[in-house]
Amino acid sequence: MKRRIVSLAAAGLVLAAWCVSALQAEEYLSGIQWARPQVLDPGPPGGPPADAVVLFDGTDMSKWKGAEQWKVQDGYVIAGEGQIESKDVFGDCQVHLEWASAVPAEGSGQGRSNSGVFLMGRYEVQVLDSYDNETYFDGQCGAIYKQRPPLVNVCRPPGEWQTYDIIWKAPRFEDGKLVSPAFITVLQNGVVIQNHFALEGDTPYHRPPAYEPHGDTGPITLQYHGNPVRFRNIWVREIKELGQERVHEPKIVQQ
Ligand code: MG
Repeated sequence: MKRRIVSLAAAGLVLAAWCVSALQAEEYLSGIQWARPQVLDPGPPGGPPADAVVLFDGTDMSKWKGAEQWKVQDGYVIAGEGQIESKDVFGDCQVHLEWASAVPAEGSGQGRSNSGVFLMGRYEVQVLDSYDNETYFDGQCGAIYKQRPPLVNVCRPPGEWQTYDIIWKAPRFEDGKLVSPAFITVLQNGVVIQNHFALEGDTPYHRPPAYEPHGDTGPITLQYHGNPVRFRNIWVREIKELGQERVHEPKIVQQ
């Protein structure tokens, strides 16, 4: 009896080993032939990566329209009279910029170092000195203006340089109708403050957000709201989907 139990246990072990080896011999194949991801030099910390369009490198504002009153000095530019827009236009993109609020801090609420980064010239990520400065939450620093407050307030004190990294998926229109909203993810100072938020439309002050059909690309716009906010190191990368081709249906193959 004892010998029989031992031999049954041994048979069980053999079967288990066979099952494991059989599993290891199988492989899932998606059937998708992916294009090779481009080898890309990421550049120094803070960029720009090799494929970025540099909109401001600290020397001049030649990549912008309307910047006659924006003053360049010491590697940064100070917001002056007039909203400025990039000459280049972008659809889906990654935006990096650095900004600093004015010192000494003056004004309060929306009046303290107000500016803004507009994607496609019409969707605003608020720039504001929200360090110890109360205002309505969907209008504070990092808000999608009048739609969504930032998840957290990670503002640095007035005068300190801060980073915005924005990942933008443009809205899609077909036959004059919205088929997909815009999506935005924003990191401020390396912290996620907007997480793949679906915009309800544009971001005006005086009416609800709405989508107005527009082209596939648009400029980056920086707002002048009466405050001498500083900017530096502004670059944009177009985001292109990786090429793919289905060469067969998904399957599991034996090796
Ligand atoms: Mg603003």
